[in-house]
Amino acid sequence: MNRQITRRDFMNGAAMVIGAAMLPTAPAFGVANPGEPQNGPGYDPPVKTGLRGSHPGSFEIAHSLRDGTFWESAGKPVESGETFDLVIVGGGISGLAAAYFFREKTGKSARILILENHDDFGGHAKRNEFHLGGRRQLLNGGTLLIDSPTPYSPVADGLLKKLGIDPPQFEARYTDHKLYRSLGLDSAVFFDKETFGEDRLVVGAPGRGWDDEEPESQAGRALTWTNFMNKTPLSPEVRRDIVRIQQAKVDYMPGLSSAEKKARLSKISYRDFLLKVVKADPGVIPFYQRRTEGEWGVGIDAEPALDCWALGFPGFQGMGLEPGAAPHMSYSAAGYATGGSYRFHFPDGNASIARLLVRALIPEAVPGHTAEDVVTAQVDYSRLDREDASLRLRLNSTVVGARNVGTPSAAQEVEVLYATGKQLCKVRAKGCVLACWNMMIPYLCPELPQAQKQALHYLVKVPLVYTSVGIRNWTSFQKLGIQRVSSPGSYWSEVSLNAAVNMGEYRSPTSPEEPILLHLSRAPCQPGLAAREQHKIGRYELLTTTFETFERKIRDQLARTLSSGGFDPARDIEAITVNRWPHGYGYEYNPLFDPDWPEDKRPNVIGRKPFGRITIANTDSAATAYTDTAIDQAYRAVNELLPG
Ligand SMILES: Cc1cc2nc3c(=O)[nH]c(=O)nc-3n(C[C@H](O)[C@H](O)[C@H](O)COP(=O)(O)OP(=O)(O)OC[C@H]3O[C@@H](n4cnc5c(N)ncnc54)[C@H](O)[C@@H]3O)c2cc1C
Repeated sequence: MNRQITRRDFMNGAAMVIGAAMLPTAPAFGVANPGEPQNGPGYDPPVKTGLRGSHPGSFEIAHSLRDGTFWESAGKPVESGETFDLVIVGGGISGLAAAYFFREKTGKSARILILENHDDFGGHAKRNEFHLGGRRQLLNGGTLLIDSPTPYSPVADGLLKKLGIDPPQFEARYTDHKLYRSLGLDSAVFFDKETFGEDRLVVGAPGRGWDDEEPESQAGRALTWTNFMNKTPLSPEVRRDIVRIQQAKVDYMPGLSSAEKKARLSKISYRDFLLKVVKADPGVIPFYQRRTEGEWGVGIDAEPALDCWALGFPGFQGMGLEPGAAPHMSYSAAGYATGGSYRFHFPDGNASIARLLVRALIPEAVPGHTAEDVVTAQVDYSRLDREDASLRLRLNSTVVGARNVGTPSAAQEVEVLYATGKQLCKVRAKGCVLACWNMMIPYLCPELPQAQKQALHYLVKVPLVYTSVGIRNWTSFQKLGIQRVSSPGSYWSEVSLNAAVNMGEYRSPTSPEEPILLHLSRAPCQPGLAAREQHKIGRYELLTTTFETFERKIRDQLARTLSSGGFDPARDIEAITVNRWPHGYGYEYNPLFDPDWPEDKRPNVIGRKPFGRITIANTDSAATAYTDTAIDQAYRAVNELLPG
């Protein structure tokens, strides 16, 4: 563990506060930023390692705008003279879909500019690309898969079809659900000594395997909960109560109807349900605490028991709850309780959707013709922002202002100001779609009505970190018989081998002797507080954690989990990409903390109201965190600009 870390990335977020102070006031370039980084040779953000996601350089301008320091030193904007039919703020799925829909309605000659503050397009739908042992390996840096609590709408499904994506067919053809099972690999739980008194890996956890097609792991099927518990370092009382929670068919609310039970369960946390209703030993909590983090970014202290029931958590099997959604369930739980959407996972997650959208908008930037060949296509970033093109995608550009020219009701034009880190530029357009994060919008449009600004601030995004780790081989996983480890007390709550998907020319590793990518995840939060407070504290944690600390946590946890299989972090880790998302999932209303507003009083509905020639897209405006809603909201925002 003490051997030197050689891949350390010194450009961590805390050290890299460039901010507005570094913006020169003099105009450096003329029209169209010929010096923009994306036009440089070898520009290829997906292959970058170190701190990615909201990477250093992407957020400092926005933060100085928030802190009120930006305009002090911003200088005079360069009047680029560029005019567009539409400027879109944000190059995520919602912004790219907005460009697609706008062009569909107005024709290919429509002049559109997309401005994105990161060095890559896609927003959360980001690609991590590694070349290990001479072979390309892909993983999602953020948005994982096509999957939603509700079926994709005709608009969202229609867009996927136009891009050549057929999720059910792709799932059947390209996802290899059998590989890890054929090698005898199972799910496991790692109990850490800080939380459970000793480090112990228990293989073959009963319950779901790594994908839903294989509902139970191989050993998990053979293992009863009692046998599994007997292998853990938990006390006899705690083991007994976990078995009871998992298996006992008890109605803890006798005499109440299913609807009455659901109403009560929506108002208590799963933690309180276990402690106060099931009356379990408090020692069960560390075993369950983090189970909800992947879905909602907070633990079971801040998630309603009813939502946990909808996601298949134990304890409810004897309660006679009728299937289906109930009032007061959170968005995702309510949807999943009625079946959810189809599912498919590209090798780089939904980054492939972003790449297909860019191909549809700027074909020369993304060679190829099919959803299969986009997986290995090499994007030519220098083609994204060409002076002669009608559609332009400008990276590394943070929008700092969007203003209707004239009164909002009479405006025919919008002025948009953006900063590139080198200069402040002004462009004009007939309309503007803000497909960026809601909480940023009041700073871009200070003239918005106060109630709308307040509503936009309400939705606090959920912080998350997804880390991709390239390792020399996975023989340690084979020796231990594991492919996915949940670690209820550790820094990373989950470690798994990359899912095997073979698509186009892309092939996932099949032999444990080959290099592979691991996916590690963490949702920083502060149990005991309201969900939105936990998200704010988690965001601060993410922004102040250095790459060196992330790397230490990776090495420590992998060593403790895998060393009995022969894993040596200093020898076996080849590359690390930490995808830090301080502003991750869009916030979903939580019945424990949020009022039960009527539809028209919800902050997302008030917040997304059009303002003159400015309209608002992004998942925040639906108070959800899914790709289909990013697309649906783009469609709405475009139609508000182009009615009829
Ligand atoms: C780790 C993670 C995993 C996820 N997994 C899934 C999943 O499996 N399935 C799923 O459906 N959804 C998932 N999501 C949800 C995801 O947010 C949506 O699916 C979707 O990608 C959101 O798209 P968007 O365009 O609305 O927002 P974003 O992807 O956030 O895009 C908005 C873009 O606007 C940019 N921006 C913000 N302010 C400015 C500014 N002032 N100037 C310029 N640009 C700006 C942002 O930097 C960002 O790039 C996940 C999210 C995260 C964080």
